Amino acid sequence: MNKAIFIDKDGTLIEDVPYNVNPGRIRLEDHAAEGLRMLQEEGFLLIVASNQPGVALGYFGEHHLLQVNEKIRSLLLPCGVYISGFYYCPHTPEGRIKKYACRCGCRKPAPGLLLAAADALDIDTSRSWMIGDILHDVEAGKRAGCHAVLIDNGHETVWDTTGPYRRPDARAGDIRAAAELILRRQAHHKQTAVAQ
Ligand SMILES: [Mg+2]
Ligand SMILES: [Zn+2]
Repeated sequence: MNKAIFIDKDGTLIEDVPYNVNPGRIRLEDHAAEGLRMLQEEGFLLIVASNQPGVALGYFGEHHLLQVNEKIRSLLLPCGVYISGFYYCPHTPEGRIKKYACRCGCRKPAPGLLLAAADALDIDTSRSWMIGDILHDVEAGKRAGCHAVLIDNGHETVWDTTGPYRRPDARAGDIRAAAELILRRQAHHKQTAVAQ
């Protein structure tokens, strides 16, 4: 089975511009490509998992997200980084577009996006990690059976830690720092396994 890194998009992988689907305004966060390359070299699949309620709210269509994917791929390609899948939740109960205005199992903090990717790409979530900038990301990751790193960049403002799933395994300043930490833990885990 594969292992994967699930990555939140807005505010984690790329700079957060609310409801933006214009490729010209998409910028990678600092050190994101570098961190993802380190993880990829260690055999992790890289998968983007993102809430996109702008679809349900009628701000843009699902097809607009394809150009977002293409732009992100093109920004990562020169660094040799390949994204294995983009998974989006287009829903929100407050939506204006009837088709998408519902409670679903994929809007983070629900784990549906991660579970769908795990099913499609044969991923062992217990060897996988979620990286995101708010506790909803952490919860989605932990509910799916992954470990989770919170990117502590000021985007979480509520700090609701009720329930068993909202405590990150670690915190890091950016994706590169998260990658260093994940690789360290993995090495430690392997050493411990050999010693037993
Ligand atoms: Mg985010
Ligand atoms: Zn959904």
